[in-house]
Amino acid sequence: SVKPKESNVDVLIVGAGPAGLMAAAWMAHCGISARIVEKRNTKIFTGQADGLNSRTIEIFDSLGFSDRVWKESNHMQEICMWNPNAEGIIHRSDRIPDTVVGISRYQQCVLNQSRIERWFIDNIKKYSSKNNNNAITVERGILPESLVIDESKVEDDDAYPVTVALRTLTEEEATPVQAATASKSAASDGLFRSNLVQDDDEADLLRKSQSRPGTKEIVHAKYVIGCDGARSWTRRALGLELEGEATDYIWGVMDIIPITDFPDIRHRCAVHSAENGSLMVIPRENRIVRLYIQLKEVVPDASGRADRSKITPDLIFRAAQKILAPYKLDYEYCDWWTAYQIGQRVGNSYDVHNRVFLAGDAVHTHSPKAGQGMNVSMQDTFNLGWKVALVLKGICKRDILATYQSERRRIAQDLIEFDHKFSRLFSGRPAKDLMDAEGIDMEEFKRAFMRGNLFASGMQVDYGPSNLVVKSGNWRELGDRSEKSAKLLAKAKISDDKFAKKQALATGIPVGKRLASFKVVSQADARPWHLQERLKSDGRFRIVLFAGKILSPQQKARVDRFCAKLDAPESFLRRITPADKAIDSVIDVLTIHASPRKDTELLRDFPDILHPFDQHLGWDYTKVYADDVSYHEGFGNAYKNYGVDKEKGCVVVLRPDHYVAWVGDIDDFEDMESYFEGCMRLPAVSAAQDVGIVVETVSS
Ligand code: FAD
Repeated sequence: SVKPKESNVDVLIVGAGPAGLMAAAWMAHCGISARIVEKRNTKIFTGQADGLNSRTIEIFDSLGFSDRVWKESNHMQEICMWNPNAEGIIHRSDRIPDTVVGISRYQQCVLNQSRIERWFIDNIKKYSSKNNNNAITVERGILPESLVIDESKVEDDDAYPVTVALRTLTEEEATPVQAATASKSAASDGLFRSNLVQDDDEADLLRKSQSRPGTKEIVHAKYVIGCDGARSWTRRALGLELEGEATDYIWGVMDIIPITDFPDIRHRCAVHSAENGSLMVIPRENRIVRLYIQLKEVVPDASGRADRSKITPDLIFRAAQKILAPYKLDYEYCDWWTAYQIGQRVGNSYDVHNRVFLAGDAVHTHSPKAGQGMNVSMQDTFNLGWKVALVLKGICKRDILATYQSERRRIAQDLIEFDHKFSRLFSGRPAKDLMDAEGIDMEEFKRAFMRGNLFASGMQVDYGPSNLVVKSGNWRELGDRSEKSAKLLAKAKISDDKFAKKQALATGIPVGKRLASFKVVSQADARPWHLQERLKSDGRFRIVLFAGKILSPQQKARVDRFCAKLDAPESFLRRITPADKAIDSVIDVLTIHASPRKDTELLRDFPDILHPFDQHLGWDYTKVYADDVSYHEGFGNAYKNYGVDKEKGCVVVLRPDHYVAWVGDIDDFEDMESYFEGCMRLPAVSAAQDVGIVVETVSS
């Protein structure tokens, strides 16, 4: 037999769904060598997830493709609640905004998962070609067959401790079985019907493995990320399990073009019928509407499982008609359908040795009605990807990888807790009156829905203390609830008093949450920008200097002192920046001042380090902003909204994923430096001595 080919790669990603593609996107943007393998031979399908929350769209903006989402998706503005009236007939009882007002510059929108995957593939190709000369493309029709971790090498930064054997599948093996259907539309269960639209380039998307079927390959990887969905092979190979259980609620999903007299069919609706179950309406792009329909007639057997073969589109649709009666509902075209039993489970561990990680559906499953599956899955790898990339680049310490579990497992646990309550309220029968104790109180449902919307926006994510987030608090409350994370998080603790003083400097910039966005005006050219537009996902940490009233001599002296320390040869900024790279290549410094823009001069009033000079490119005009009115887009009032004092200002450190890591005073330089010493591999004295400087503090 032929000896299999062997190769090394820094990161191997298994599975090219939303979570795997987000991981690959970070590798592309950070210039890391990576491969992504997928067992299916085709990407295109209809159905599956469709909801994009505000935070996900902010993330897409930072990667460079939110404009495509915004143009093509359906924007959801309003939710209508429908409940039985005194006669038991459904009526509209409430209207509320779909996205909590003011929470983000983006509102929730819906679009097919396949389009989102398409944009990822384009984006990954573009950035990986630019940063690495070696484009990352999805390798399809490939199946991992074994995974071995060499435990003796897991602490060695240069080692490739994970060995994975891959096999190229035959065409037949790589094409999953398509469920037949008796539906009048003849729509399949959606996995394989093409929804290619004009700009989908088939050849590009269906790129299959070039190897002959059966070809084996051995890959040695520094890190492996298992993003292979709810039935994760990687999870099984690691011997890890999901904890939790299946519920009794069985739901059908149909994407149809509805023919109906129901007045709110183009609004998102939560409909509770008196006796026939509940239904959710999600208006989609291209006249399509998704219906989530409770199937009261299908009940799980003694083993707790429902017989899925009994569930047909006709059965699902008849249930929908009953719930919406007396309104009429029909359709000619069905794009996709499926049925599911809600399982609420979360992984007991998200990694093994911080070398092999699980993400997305591979570590948590829950009902899709809150529209969270795809969002939370992508946000898992948005949290993990930059950490792996920066450890590989030698910028960050390896122990930051433990924060992936401490930060993300709690999100999944919260989601499941919420889903548990919400599913009960949504699947339950509405109470007939106050005495009906078994029925669901519709006011309680509405309150849960509103809380759910806040949660579902993704904005409530609040990471606990660690060496990446400097805040006080009990790790049990703020971090992952597993013992494993305790060691790391305990190290990070600062006193409640000290933290409260720091947080008071920027009350609108909570440490642990993503930085909210307000408009500021470029000092160099008067163009207004949303601050988030300046936070690209390029793997850089950021220091945002709220310089305050820079025209006041006293305040200018403080800013000058801060900048002198930042610019000094022994500063963390100089030490962490490779000698051959620009000073902003690892940490980007942005400034927002509070003096009138027209009276202020970029080159006169701000030290050079805030707008660095390059001998080929001149001054950098993109880094200093004023909190002032713009000509055409009003006044962002950033200092007020961020809760920062205009006289004194403050300093904020952001992680590469835009979560707030540290807040402090402009005079608190040493404390900020110790933040970077805690998470970065700052070069030791000898490296600095090469350029003739003696450095006293050395990071461990
Ligand atoms: P997935 O999207 O499942 O991606 C996993 C990928 O890994 C797949 O491409 C798979 O082919 C590949 N893979 C699996 N095993 C291997 C292996 N051994 N080797 C290589 N590759 C492998 N969410 C909603 O919000 N609303 C919905 O209505 C909804 N409906 C859904 C219907 C179905 C049938 C499914 C499967 C999911 C649905 N979801 C829905 C969930 C949503 O699609 C997921 O939460 C989301 O896609 C999770 O992303 P992921 O990348 O973690 O996993």
